[in-house]
Amino acid sequence: MRSRSTVSDAMRHYLELQQDLGGDEVIFDAPVDVRAALRASDPAPRAETVAPVAPVAPVAPRSGIGLSAQVARATAAGRPAAAVAAAATEAAPDRPAAAARQGPPPIPGPGLTIVSPRSAEMPAWASLDEIAAIVRECRKCPLCETRTHAVPGEGNPSARLMVVGEGPGESEDLSGRPFVGRAGDLLNKMLEAIAVPRAEAFIANVVKCRPPKNRVPLPDERQACLPYLGRQVALVQPKVLLALGGTAAEAMLGIKKSLGALRLQVHSWNGIPLIVTYHPAALLRNPDWKRPAWDDLRIVRQLLDRDT
Ligand code: SF4
Repeated sequence: MRSRSTVSDAMRHYLELQQDLGGDEVIFDAPVDVRAALRASDPAPRAETVAPVAPVAPVAPRSGIGLSAQVARATAAGRPAAAVAAAATEAAPDRPAAAARQGPPPIPGPGLTIVSPRSAEMPAWASLDEIAAIVRECRKCPLCETRTHAVPGEGNPSARLMVVGEGPGESEDLSGRPFVGRAGDLLNKMLEAIAVPRAEAFIANVVKCRPPKNRVPLPDERQACLPYLGRQVALVQPKVLLALGGTAAEAMLGIKKSLGALRLQVHSWNGIPLIVTYHPAALLRNPDWKRPAWDDLRIVRQLLDRDT
């Protein structure tokens, strides 16, 4: 049986995920008098008929109803607030998966169908480890001159979800790992929110070496590096691809369009469904985009859940 503190930690973690991803749920950092809040929002309050309400710990909505409202309704019906909050808190560990599957946007229609790179450009490297070793020695484009470490990618070699970013940033260049630092932390939360822990995904970039001063990788650099990604995808055979940011989407789909024009379509990349969403670094700069990104993630979750 979980201890109360463990359960509360799980609920807090869940709420923080929701907050980071632009969800509706809220965190109260201090106990809340739900009755007072309800009175304040009710234009015609009813006569008091129940005992005083105990302060309520930070809590979350259930079934699309704000938990403060749940607690308020339950206490108005005579149930102790603490019991209602505790029952909701007990449900916390399973909430990310449930929330991701709750009221999602419909799976959008088909987008572009792309076969890239052409098989002639894609050597039949036998394993992800072999690709990683070749990438670390690669000198096919000028980005090798300025890298500290190449970043081949990492994750579950049998991942059902493969995430593709634009290229390594400073933290990634220093560590040799994809998506570390703040953007990486947010990506981890995004994945966790659709019940795909980072370790279960495979994470890579279009270019494997950091462009100087984090500039956008040039078309020639993307082209030179794309065979590595193509072969990684062919070996992992994920059920869904998630392209993070306009540059990754543009490189994979071979088309110059805005991110907005490429979102909300199920593209096909070498026969694998590909969804386009915002790069976590962009979400850190523009929190208003977290809500549409959450929609994209829930589309990914549905594609992962699909039988075919
Ligand atoms: S970016 Fe890709 S193609 Fe260029 S040097 Fe690095 S691994 Fe090679």
